[in-house]
Amino acid sequence: MCSQLDFQQPNMNPEIIQANEKYAASFQKPDMAGFKNMTIIACCDPRVDPYAKLGLKNGEAVIIRNAGGSAVDAVRSITVLQHGIAVTGEIAVFHHTDCGMTKVTTDRMRELVKTANPGRDDVAATVDSMDFYHILDVEESVKSDVKFLAENPLILKGTKLSGWVYDVETGKISKVVEAAASG
Ligand SMILES: [Zn+2]
Repeated sequence: MCSQLDFQQPNMNPEIIQANEKYAASFQKPDMAGFKNMTIIACCDPRVDPYAKLGLKNGEAVIIRNAGGSAVDAVRSITVLQHGIAVTGEIAVFHHTDCGMTKVTTDRMRELVKTANPGRDDVAATVDSMDFYHILDVEESVKSDVKFLAENPLILKGTKLSGWVYDVETGKISKVVEAAASG
């Protein structure tokens, strides 16, 4: 195995460290009394601010982020939340317009990774075993993810589920689907 990580080289932007010093100087712990027992799954796209778009503050909801806002990718975290720390409220899945996952297929991702790692059979085998959850149509992908959660035996029976699309041009959200987990 070879690693590209060099722990001797600080790779954090110094501005980030300075910003954190400022943040910590006036830090106030989130008031968990405001926690809405709600989990939001959202894309990691930096244009998307899952708290702000819903008028939420840190401490009011759980946010799970990954490329595309995939519910399939989020199941491990949801299972921990529901069974490990009793976050059992509504789960809202948000996909968004102009998402990067609409622009890259699983086959293309595999090709890109393999091209970047010539001669690496271990990389090829690993990436070939992965699905990157390409999004063809954002409304359909939200429906499909909510259906996936509704039918997933790991999701607590009766969990309220909803699927939404966030428009990165207007900042508006629109509900696509509602369901309840069948357990
Ligand atoms: Zn995205």
